[in-house]
Amino acid sequence: MRTAPIIIEHVSHWLEYFTLAELFFVLNEDARISLFDKFRIGKIASAVRHTFMSDQLDEHVKMLIEDLSTAFCQSRPLHKPTSLSSIMIRQNDHFLVPFRSSCPSCNRTLDVSDAVQRRIRLYCLNGSVVIGTMITFHCHQNHSNYLCNNDNSSIMIYPNFSRINNRNIYTHNSLYHGNYIYLGGDVAIERSVIDKYTAQIIHHDFSIIGIAASMNQEAFNLGYYQLAPIERRLLSNILHAYLIIQIDLSMGYASVSVPCSLEDFSQWAWEEFPRLLTCFIYLWANHRTLIGSCGEHCSKCLVVDGHQKSRRRICAFKDVKVETEEMKELLIGCCRTPVRWSRFCSLHNKETLFTANKQSKPNSQKKKINRKFIRYFSKKSHKKNGHLNVTGCRTIKERSDLYVQKCTRSLGIIALVSNCRIITSFSELYRSETIREIINLFAITIRVAGQLAPTCVYDDGCHLVKYIKNHIGADLSQTPAMLLLDSTPISVDRSHFRNHVGTFCRKTMNPDKNPLLKDVNTQAAEQTFSWLKQYAQIISNLNYQRAPLFMLVLFHLKNLSKVKRSTSCIFNIASAIPNVHGVSLCHLAHNTFQHSSTSQQNMQISINEKPTHSLNFQQIDLPQGTTDWDTKMRDIMSKRN
Ligand SMILES: [Zn+2]
Ligand SMILES: [Zn+2]
Ligand SMILES: [Zn+2]
Ligand SMILES: [Zn+2]
Repeated sequence: MRTAPIIIEHVSHWLEYFTLAELFFVLNEDARISLFDKFRIGKIASAVRHTFMSDQLDEHVKMLIEDLSTAFCQSRPLHKPTSLSSIMIRQNDHFLVPFRSSCPSCNRTLDVSDAVQRRIRLYCLNGSVVIGTMITFHCHQNHSNYLCNNDNSSIMIYPNFSRINNRNIYTHNSLYHGNYIYLGGDVAIERSVIDKYTAQIIHHDFSIIGIAASMNQEAFNLGYYQLAPIERRLLSNILHAYLIIQIDLSMGYASVSVPCSLEDFSQWAWEEFPRLLTCFIYLWANHRTLIGSCGEHCSKCLVVDGHQKSRRRICAFKDVKVETEEMKELLIGCCRTPVRWSRFCSLHNKETLFTANKQSKPNSQKKKINRKFIRYFSKKSHKKNGHLNVTGCRTIKERSDLYVQKCTRSLGIIALVSNCRIITSFSELYRSETIREIINLFAITIRVAGQLAPTCVYDDGCHLVKYIKNHIGADLSQTPAMLLLDSTPISVDRSHFRNHVGTFCRKTMNPDKNPLLKDVNTQAAEQTFSWLKQYAQIISNLNYQRAPLFMLVLFHLKNLSKVKRSTSCIFNIASAIPNVHGVSLCHLAHNTFQHSSTSQQNMQISINEKPTHSLNFQQIDLPQGTTDWDTKMRDIMSKRN
């Protein structure tokens, strides 16, 4: 017999009250509607009454389900009603269920009595905005031993995280659970919105504003229901947070703990930026060993270059200095976004109020003064360097330091890109000490990665080499990183080399005479920046907390696509990440008191003792170049006082 006699008996009993069709309908709905839906019986009963024009009581429907669902379940692979498979099978449209059904602390199996149901707005990929139902589990047991000291703190299991002590804890399993993503607040989004965004962002300059607008347009064109139009700020907060949590988890951390309110997320992410950047540098500078070689010439050389297109608004206060392991004093300028109606950030607005008032002359007059000063300055610098240019190289770009002084836009970014086009590290520029910031970027990269490529390329390489040779041991401390950089051969890239006409450059900077650069792409940074150019508009509209993280996410996604890895893959490097001080200069400016120079001793760097150049560096005296701005700056400052 296909059906057990006991079931036949039960079914025939219920057939006295229900028709066969009603019976079938009820059991189907029972299987479809989530177990954690508090109103499931009521819903099923009214659906039966509506569909069959009958007057079945809620109580009867409830008894029927209790009596038969176990038997009916014989055809379904369900045993434990709160098992994950049960949750997934019962998951239906617009229904968000917790990512686990047991308490992580007391291991209690949670059921409908622990469930709390609430309504949220759902942003779908096609632009429709609908009401969704979200179930969360609350465990109120005494969890004092678990992650918190608070005796009566409860643990809540959400669809994509658990909430303990007002922190949202994400794990790989929780983040990738379900078809919707809920990170807090009143809005969840369909997972495909993020999947689509992450796939497209590295190929197009999609701003999140543009995505929100196009989703709204699609909903309008096709007449999809929208509870309210998609709010771009909400959508961008969710995408931003998701991608950062994703990067954090992909570095091999077991869990990520973030503030429970999405509004506090930006500040949290900004504070975590140095750690994430350290992971980024460690991973990508060592991608050949950690991920696998991308070809014959993988990681043969690092190309450093500056990119001036992505410039965001920054505070006009420039006198921010930091101390690094190599430099006693590095002027970096303030990275923060100016407050409204001001040229200064909230930090420097008060400090500079007095001087700002003094300077508030009519605009035209200010411009005139500017121009006069620039003319004076350029004449002066010409006089000073003019005769040397005949023998030196022609790489001097005229740029007024006064302009930099007045400028309320960042100067773009500098980045180290491997010849296989992996972005290995980057830094934003707020001021003009380019050459010293490049040296610092090298130092940081060496300290984090524990190594440097066999050779480096820079389009103004001669001035970089000159600066290192002339300053090492003096205002550039002889750290292991500096010694390694000093012993690494640096060349000028192939397309810029013809501009370098000085004897020193001709002799030492020729990329074609550097055997390490044979068949190696020295244009990698330029190629990367021509890709980055399309994001200039997006980046220049971001504030100081978002911009560095957006770039981190963008570069990470770009690199992942280069090495053909999925965005959800995990690199188990978290335990290997060194604790390096000062990875992000602007963060250094915000907490200079936390200085510790312990990382210097713990470093393991293999330094090539023999310098590869046989030239005598004692006599290097190049004309002042673009990048030797410190001296010029000091010059100007002394003139002004
Ligand atoms: Zn518990
Ligand atoms: Zn590579
Ligand atoms: Zn400021
Ligand atoms: Zn040169």
